[in-house]
Formats: sequence, structure tokens, C-alpha cells
Amino acid sequence: AMRRIGRAKHGIDRRNVSRHAIKVCEVLQHEGYQAYIVGGAVRDLIVGLEPKDFDVATNATPEQIRPLFRRARIIGRRFQLVHVVFGQEIIETSTFRAPASESQATDDHGRILRDNEFGTHAQDAARRDFTINALYYDPTTEEVIDYHNGVEDLKSRTVRMIGDPRTRYREDPVRMLRAVRFAVKLKGTIHTDTKAPLQSMAELIENVPASRLFDEMLKLLTCGHAMDCLQQLRQDGLHQGILPLLDVVLEQPGGEEFIELALDRTDHRIRSGKTVSPSFLFAALLWHQVDLRWKKRIQAGEPSIQALMDAADSVLDEQTEKLAIQKRFSADMREIWFMQPRFEKRLPKSIWRMFEQPRFRASVDFLQLRAAAHQFDSVLAQWWMDLANADDTARVEMLEELS
Ligand code: ATP
Ligand code: MG
Repeated sequence: AMRRIGRAKHGIDRRNVSRHAIKVCEVLQHEGYQAYIVGGAVRDLIVGLEPKDFDVATNATPEQIRPLFRRARIIGRRFQLVHVVFGQEIIETSTFRAPASESQATDDHGRILRDNEFGTHAQDAARRDFTINALYYDPTTEEVIDYHNGVEDLKSRTVRMIGDPRTRYREDPVRMLRAVRFAVKLKGTIHTDTKAPLQSMAELIENVPASRLFDEMLKLLTCGHAMDCLQQLRQDGLHQGILPLLDVVLEQPGGEEFIELALDRTDHRIRSGKTVSPSFLFAALLWHQVDLRWKKRIQAGEPSIQALMDAADSVLDEQTEKLAIQKRFSADMREIWFMQPRFEKRLPKSIWRMFEQPRFRASVDFLQLRAAAHQFDSVLAQWWMDLANADDTARVEMLEELS
């Protein structure tokens, strides 16, 4: 049953809502369409967290939406939606969609998929994953439209699947990871029925395309509570053999300290509103493995630099099989790793060349992590940090002092 929940009960302060998202809703409503702010933003506003971004859902089609805005473009092929652009902010505006199963059924009957994927407001609510993610905020009436009792679940911090959890996990196994992420982020729990199938269905994650898995893992690692999420994944039996990365992170003796430091640093940055580069993050998560293999190869007589490159290749090859670490990220990860041995010797001539490397700054940051984990002399690591922070004149002085 659909409920309309008033301001007093949901508590959203309109001043915390993106004015651009409000604008999109107003323009669409003025044209006679339904339009609401939906999903993560509504969830976060109700619990008092700052939304990452604002999405709008409407019964207008992409072709109807686009001409209403000065800067708007249709994106996506199978599921088209509209990006309405206001300076730095993009309001993702999508047409109500029917649940996957229904549109697929129509597809089997030979009808065109794209025409059939649009749905009613109620269907759009039903195709979403959790009750807390299926809330619609109307900025005009300041009401929240709630088809699945999401506000109540949100107040009790309960992550509850809409519909039959097993069916919904089978449709999209990524929802298992999402359940854990939202429970941790809200400091709540996964409802018993939603939690029960996790252990036995965990292996379904193997069928998820690597690129989607990467996106979802990145969201998990940058939600501000990365370590808690990873520990929860382990407790729920969701990590074993599924993601080689998680095996590495959670089950390598000796690697924990470094990873804990890296994730703590990430969480702090995220919570204070700073960004984290995915390459830095994955470089840190995989460093212990690279380091182990590097040392092994050196012991076997391989020259140090070559040994490091080979170690990096073998680790990255293993990971990309399951988790598509995109090329642009893996290239940056390599640069960060390959810079590490160059911090051991301080030769002014080669240091000037290091400044020119685009990942110099990130590599020096990475060195601080290694120092904190007792893998590198902390005084020397600080020297590099000072050098990275210095202007050109101060750099010249620091390098002259070396000789
Ligand atoms: P975040 O704050 O991490 O962005 P979010 O809830 O906005 O959280 P998104 O991945 O941005 O998550 O998705 C936006 C909305 O789309 C969700 O709130 C949910 O309603 C719906 N959604 C996203 N992924 C799925 C999925 N795998 N299955 C069903 N619905 C989904
Ligand atoms: Mg979102």
C-alpha cells in the first residue's frame, strides 16, 4: 500500500536538498509530469547524512525530458536516462521502469525491449533493491511517497529486500554486496529474511561481469566505512573465493596492518569530504602481495626493478580476471609501485626526473603508508613528504644539502 508521509514524520529539511534537483522536479511537474527525487539521496537525507548525488525519477520519457532543459543529454543504450547538467552538478533523471522480470517476459514475447521497460510509479518502486532505497521525495508538497514501508525500516535502520530475497539476489547478485554496504553505512542490520540466503548464494557473485563488480567494490571501499564493510562481508561469508582481492585483503597474514592503515586513511578522507583515487586505493590493497612476490624474485636472483615489474604483472593479471581493474587505474597503480624503490636512494639528478612523473605526489603519499607500517624509514619518508610539499626554491635547497 502506498503511503504519503509528511514533513513532520520524515524530517527532511528542504534546504538540504540540491536546488538543481528541485529545479528538475519543478520543470517536469510544470509540464504535467510526475517527478520526484529518489533513491540514495532521500535515504541519506532522512537519516541526516549528506547525499553524494541527487537522482530524479519521472513518468516523462527521455525524449520528453531532454528539450525541457538547456544542458541535457540522453545517455545509455539499453536503459536510457537523461543527464541534466548544472555547472558541476549532474542530475540523473530517469523514467519510471518496470521490474526486470516483467520487461524480460515481454521481451520473450518478441516485443521491443526499450518500449516495454518503462513502467508505472509503483513498478518503479518495486524494481528497486531495498525498501530504504525506494523512497520518493516530492519537493513541491514536501511529502515522501513510500510503497514498501521504507521510512519505518529506515528509522529502525533495517535493510530489507523488496520482494523475495532469493529471487532478487538471483536476478542481480550484486545486491548481496549492497545489502552489506548499506547496513554498515547506516550502522544498522540486514533483516533476517534478507540476510538468510547470503551464505548459500554467495557463489552467484562469480557470474557478475567483472566491470560491475569493480564498480560495486569501489562504492564499498569509498563509502567511508571500508574496513567495517570488508569485515562484515567476511562474517556473512561473502568473500571466500569470490573476489580474489578480498581473499588477499582479509586472509594474508602480515598484510593486515598495511591494509588497515590504507583503509583508515581512505575512510578519514571520505568522511572529511575529500576524494580518494581508486588507483591509490587498489595499489594499497594489493601492495602486500606485490611486495612479497617482489622479494621472492629478488631472492631468486632477478634484478630488483625487473623483479618488481614482474611481481606487479602477476598480481594484476590475477586480479583483473575477476575484478576488471580498468587500464587507466592499473597503469597508475604500476607507476605508484614502481616509484617505491626510487625513494631508497637520494640522487639529486634522478630526483628532478621523479618530480616530472604525474604520480609523484601519490607515490610519496604511498610511501607514508609504508613508513607507518614500518616498511620504510619514517625520517626518510618525511623528507620525501617535505620535498613534495616544497616549492621549487626550497626543493633546490633540499637537494643541495644532499651533496
Ligand atoms: P549511494 O549513496 O552509494 O550512491 P544509492 O542508493 O544512491 O547509494 P546507487 O547505486 O547510486 O545507490 O543507485 C541508485 C538507486 O538505484 C538505489 O537507491 C536503488 O533504488 C536503485 N538501485 C541501484 N542498484 C540497484 C540494484 N542492483 N538493484 C535494484 N535497484 C538498484
Ligand atoms: Mg547514488
